[in-house]
Parts: sequence; structure tokens; C-alpha cells
Amino acid sequence: MTYDGIEYKGRHEPLVSEELFDRVQRILDSHSGAGTRERSHNHYLKGLLYCGRCKYRLIVQRAVGQRGGEYYYFFCRGRQQGVCDLPFVPVEVIEDAVVSYYGDAVSLPSEWLNHVRTGVDAAVNGHHELSDHTAGGVRQAP
Ligand SMILES: [Zn+2]
Repeated sequence: MTYDGIEYKGRHEPLVSEELFDRVQRILDSHSGAGTRERSHNHYLKGLLYCGRCKYRLIVQRAVGQRGGEYYYFFCRGRQQGVCDLPFVPVEVIEDAVVSYYGDAVSLPSEWLNHVRTGVDAAVNGHHELSDHTAGGVRQAP
């Protein structure tokens, strides 16, 4: 996760390796129209979170930083309505809070995790076009 331009390693053991994640991400990107994700501000927590101060829903907002980078924030619809003072919160901070909240409560059986890893591996390796580009684990510059 990236916060304030600095990359942080998650505290929890990742479900899949970084390299695999990148490969899957590229497959997903190639399947969706370019720019679609930016325009719709999709986030896996979108629509699931509500403000603790005013109970309105939190929505995702994109901002462009001074150095041109893109930043995504959650902010409260109540703030839009003028009834809440919850500040804009970077998505990474929200993600971290959700992980902290659910982290120990949600534990996935290791058999299931292995099953998912195997399935993802098979899916990635079956994607010949992409496999050719990433053969040998060599990363190409974006
Ligand atoms: Zn609020």
C-alpha cells in the first residue's frame, strides 16, 4: 500500500506473491477498458462503509496531487450535506483500519488458500499472451 508517496509493506502475510499479484492485475487491466477504473472510482470497500459520526455512507473521491500523482480518498456524504466534519481519509488508511478491525476475526483455512493459489496459478499460466511477456519472472518496465 502507498501512503503519502511512501510504500508500506502490509503487516499481514500476503495471500499471493507480489509478482503473481502484478501479473493478475495486468490480466484484469487488459480485460477492462483503459481508464474505466479511474472514471468510476471503483474500490472493493466502496458502498460498504458508513461514517461513525453521522451514519451517512462514505464515498470514494479522486484527487490529483501537486506532483501529478493520483490519490483516492473516502469522504462522508454527510460532509457534502454540511452535517458532518469527518475529514477526507486516504483509502490506504481506511484499508488499514478495516484490516485491523477484521484481521484476527477472519482466518482462512490453509487448505482453501492453497486451493485458491493453485487456481490463480493455473489461470495465469493459461493466459499465454501474458505468460510470454512475464516468462522467467523478468519484470518489464511499465
Ligand atoms: Zn459523517
